[in-house]
Amino acid sequence: MLTNLQARDVETLIHPYTNLVAVRETGPLILERGKGVWVTDVDGKPYLEGMAGLWCTALGYGNEELVEAAAEQMRKLPFTHIFGGKSHDPAIELAEKLKEMAPVPISKVFFTCSGSEANDTQMKLVWYMNNALGRPKKKKIISRMRAYHGVTIASASLTGLAGNHNDFDLPIAGVRHTTCPHHYRLAEAGESEEDFATRLAADLEALILAEGPETVAAFIAEPVMGAGGVIVPPKTYYPKIQAVLEKYDVFFIADEVICGFGRLGTTFGSEAMEMKPDSISIAKALSSAYQPIGAVMIPEIMYEALLTESAKLGSFGHGYTYSGHPVAAAVAVKTLEIYERESIFERVRAKIPQFAARRAALEDHPLVGEARGAGLVAGIELVADKKTKHQFDPKLGVAAKTVAFCQQEGLILRNVFGDAVTICPPLVISPAEIDELFDRLTRALDRTL
Ligand code: PLP
Repeated sequence: MLTNLQARDVETLIHPYTNLVAVRETGPLILERGKGVWVTDVDGKPYLEGMAGLWCTALGYGNEELVEAAAEQMRKLPFTHIFGGKSHDPAIELAEKLKEMAPVPISKVFFTCSGSEANDTQMKLVWYMNNALGRPKKKKIISRMRAYHGVTIASASLTGLAGNHNDFDLPIAGVRHTTCPHHYRLAEAGESEEDFATRLAADLEALILAEGPETVAAFIAEPVMGAGGVIVPPKTYYPKIQAVLEKYDVFFIADEVICGFGRLGTTFGSEAMEMKPDSISIAKALSSAYQPIGAVMIPEIMYEALLTESAKLGSFGHGYTYSGHPVAAAVAVKTLEIYERESIFERVRAKIPQFAARRAALEDHPLVGEARGAGLVAGIELVADKKTKHQFDPKLGVAAKTVAFCQQEGLILRNVFGDAVTICPPLVISPAEIDELFDRLTRALDRTL
């Protein structure tokens, strides 16, 4: 029986990423407030937010400094755009700070409102650059199966999940997907992680050669795949991939929308995973999700190409009304200040051993095939048979049931791909709360048996 608020909800809202038939029966969970890593529903029941919202509320809930930064900027100047040579202090300060923090040399920053827009922008900038460089055929973008890069027409095409393509007539032309670096599922019998990484780099090279290197512009990758089920590639995977990209002059885009800003214990996931990207997409933890903001950080060679093209065409014809929105930028500046002042990333590093030990211990559970992860993010893959890795019939929705039991236990997690349950708590989670999270998850797994 739906509450009044739930009934009003299902009469009016379309919920993203939701079974729209099922939600009409169950109604959504309606949350009202939050503090630290905890959120409370309209009936006053508390939940540990084990997914940091959608991999994004890095500083948790109720951070008054962020609230104040937004309020102060709204009072001062709630909006001005940065088109046509206009600007404002928060956007300038944020771009300066991001250049300083970047793991590779960055020339300029372009602001978006989301991760999807950041990846869309990446694709457009690569095309624009290659036109400026006089190689109009070099336009294809290679992504990976199970990657998640967003939902706009271009970024959903880069995403390597069937659910984002089916019936949307995607992917668009010019996007290719190479092998996902998931050793547990995709390694051949007896294949070491090292050999698996070598094979995947060979797969990428074969794809580039089959397409024609003169047609392949860029490769995009999340340091650790998030929504595809939290896939951590083998240690030597990126150096091997990077060598192939360099050989064929393929631009390397790091999608740091989840891994950026401390998730893996380093400022950027690229550092933890030994990636040396040419350009970087960020969003989510950039503002700790207190405001919608994303960005693309580009190298000098790309900026020079943009200069050439905009001189030729009269203008650089790309930008969102809310690119560099002053309130979002002010909140992001404050977020980055807090990360630094409170040594948030160092504190994440101190919490990783406990988080990793509790994660690994889940592999003793009869339902868990693989408990994988890095930093403060994890994917718990449930299997019907641990020995054979045999999967449950998808119709049973086993991981979805675990997530529903988690909710009853006062823990919010997600089931994103197949039978994987994902964990990605706010970076400010305490050691006691990490234990609480895994205790509640274990109880939910026991109830799923
Ligand atoms: N890239 C990655 C790695 C993501 O995880 C996401 C969202 O989860 C996106 C891009 C898309 O970001 P948004 O939902 O802000 O458009």
